[in-house]
Amino acid sequence: MKKPKNKKQFKNSTFKDYNLSHISDLKNQSGKLVSGWNSIPNGKPVSWIENAIPNYLWAILLAGNLPRENTLHLFRSVFNRAATRHLTDSSITMLDLPNINPDDKLYIFEEILKDPAAKRILSALNFLSCLPDKVFWNTTFDTLSDDESIDILIKGVYVSLDHQSQESTDVRWLFLMYEIIAKQKMILTSEVADMLQNFLEYPNKGDMRSVRPMIRSAEMAFRAMNFEGNEKIRQFNIAFWKECFDRTPCLVPKPIIQNKINFQDLAVEATDIYLNVVNNFKMNNSDFDVKREVVYGSIMYAFTVYLEIISYKNSFRIAGINLLRTLVEIYINLKYLTHKQDATLWEKFYKYGIGKCKQILLKSIEKEDNELPEYMNVENLYNYASENGWIEMQDIDLGDWCKTNLRDRAIESGIKDFYDKHYDFLSAFSHGQWGALRQTVFTTCMNPLHKLHIVPKPAPAICVESVHIEATKIMNLLLELLNQNYSPFKPRFKKHDQT
Ligand SMILES: [Zn+2]
Repeated sequence: MKKPKNKKQFKNSTFKDYNLSHISDLKNQSGKLVSGWNSIPNGKPVSWIENAIPNYLWAILLAGNLPRENTLHLFRSVFNRAATRHLTDSSITMLDLPNINPDDKLYIFEEILKDPAAKRILSALNFLSCLPDKVFWNTTFDTLSDDESIDILIKGVYVSLDHQSQESTDVRWLFLMYEIIAKQKMILTSEVADMLQNFLEYPNKGDMRSVRPMIRSAEMAFRAMNFEGNEKIRQFNIAFWKECFDRTPCLVPKPIIQNKINFQDLAVEATDIYLNVVNNFKMNNSDFDVKREVVYGSIMYAFTVYLEIISYKNSFRIAGINLLRTLVEIYINLKYLTHKQDATLWEKFYKYGIGKCKQILLKSIEKEDNELPEYMNVENLYNYASENGWIEMQDIDLGDWCKTNLRDRAIESGIKDFYDKHYDFLSAFSHGQWGALRQTVFTTCMNPLHKLHIVPKPAPAICVESVHIEATKIMNLLLELLNQNYSPFKPRFKKHDQT
């Protein structure tokens, strides 16, 4: 086995030592960032929830219900005892235990049976009728009430649903150590000596930030070897999860009612700043000043969008998400225009807009009056496209307003991080992509014995965390752009952090 490289950790505290590829490590193949697993022939890992939880169940129950020190002591006793009996051809998964003769089985479980708490925990297995080796479990362990058994099963499976949790890692360590110590499946070389010592003395030796991921990847390799393509395992897994589903209830959480946030102060502040913006708009004559109109127009449109975000409960709704996306786009465009300070670009932005007005107008007037949507006023479109010259002279640009896309404009303006932070998440809601549907209309059944399946929410819900804080930060960024283009402009939002 190759010694794993020291992997760079993630900055996020929850995910810092997760076995995940960094986005920069994914290869771009014809516009698709391809998973490293998909470039390895037969490289698909065996599913932890589908396959490992049913087969590692007895150990999972101990890890989820006993203090950790006791669990690790008992796990050690199991693989060490199996090694003294030279059980090199058998394993200790739920499906393999029947292959170990009863005397050896009692011997490797002896420490567990001597521990009353551990014995009670494994007695919960007698609740399930799908398990192999019923005779061993029935005769060696006790019978608990259904409620007691379900409680133990739920606690055990719950903490191991995440294949990288502490409890899952401990269980994976047990099965890995069984392969190494009892089955002697690892060839000892000087290259792996340090790693092996870390495994033997787990969790007391080595840097756990690298030891834990190493345990998980080594266990996954053995699991793939032992489980893949095994029809007996597949059938057992199906039976296990079906019995759990049939005999335990769905646990659907009640929707959380969002705390009422008082947006009144923020609305007053927004209105005050808006008035300052309008007062800052200086006119010496009646001429059209394309840069000024685009800058102020963008800022004032952003204010209108912002006031809608903080109206009613929009900041908790899809409306708030979509409006925030609009703010993001306004900011990137204005940042780009400010960065370039190219007179022709302000002109292009404007001309593109009136070209669109003309295009919509010309298409619309080919139709009967009653075929037009109620919200559209074609006379307005005619006026907008005619304001600064004869409409017949205006071109219609069918592409993007400056021949680049929003992402490229963000990169050129030095705000790619801003684009990455917001755009894909927000756009998923506008486009009705799966992530948005999942978050909005489905919830998760919290019974871990149901594999965290999804169920429809009983009623349309106010569905997201409030977007008002990010919206207000973007408003302040926009006000800074106003300051850069028409200095000085000092007012900024200050209330949003206090809501
Ligand atoms: Zn359920």
